[in-house]
Amino acid sequence: MGPRIISIVNQKGGVGKTTTATNLSAALAATGKSVLLVDLDPQGNASTGLGIDGARRSLTTYDLIAGEHEVSEVAIETRYSGLSIVPATTDLSSADLDFAGAQNRVSLLKRRLQSTPLDYDYILIDCPPSLNILTINAMVASDSVLIPLQAEFFALEGLSQLMLTIRQIRSTANASLGIEGVVLTMYDRRNNLSQQVEADARDNLGDLVFRTLIPRNVRLSEAPSFAMSILDYDPASAGARAYVALAEELIARHSVPQEASHVAAR
Ligand code: ADP
Ligand code: MG
Repeated sequence: MGPRIISIVNQKGGVGKTTTATNLSAALAATGKSVLLVDLDPQGNASTGLGIDGARRSLTTYDLIAGEHEVSEVAIETRYSGLSIVPATTDLSSADLDFAGAQNRVSLLKRRLQSTPLDYDYILIDCPPSLNILTINAMVASDSVLIPLQAEFFALEGLSQLMLTIRQIRSTANASLGIEGVVLTMYDRRNNLSQQVEADARDNLGDLVFRTLIPRNVRLSEAPSFAMSILDYDPASAGARAYVALAEELIARHSVPQEASHVAAR
């Protein structure tokens, strides 16, 4: 079986996509899974956050999408065992224009991920804060979408636009695109608003919402500036424990047959 490919998507910025992409990747790798993180945001925050400096970004996601390099050429190892990354640079910001006239412009990434057998358990794609051609490429290439939702006012706004886009992609370029789940981020259990957003999300989305909540935790915001994952920066922190729990929940969802998982949820 090939890798499970998961896009981390929300067209809003600052909701925890990159924090989830890097730390969930690190947590999956820590359980022994082999993981590739594809940085698809021109800002390259996931690459920086995992300590990939500019000198190591001679080949990037741009080169992968442009079609002249295979995954094996552009993926580099992080300091974490089992975790590799395809880094991004600001080059990617011109992708919209550069690939506008390309044939199959929405399936450029899919083609690269399928052109050679890839020996990963998971490929996570950290998407930019928009539903642009890069994000569309990610969703076309993916088995599923994982949506971080910030436990804030208006959190559920914008989700309908995203769901519409997912339906459009299903009816055109990727009929089997699933929803991996919605994960609440920056959750503050003492705050009524967080609880309200959680209740609304569970009412509207049911089992799609992960049981695991990612708390607001300052250690999570500090870790990237030390070029570390939270598991390394502060393994005892609430943030580290949450991302380990999210990785376990995600793995359990796949290893248990659908029927049994429903029984277990009751
Ligand atoms: P996105 O990729 O969606 O734009 P980020 O993951 O970059 O969002 O997060 C936005 C900001 O919020 C960053 O400064 C990040 O460090 C911080 N942040 C993300 N998740 C948390 C959290 N659970 N607790 C505290 N700060 C967080
Ligand atoms: Mg980001």
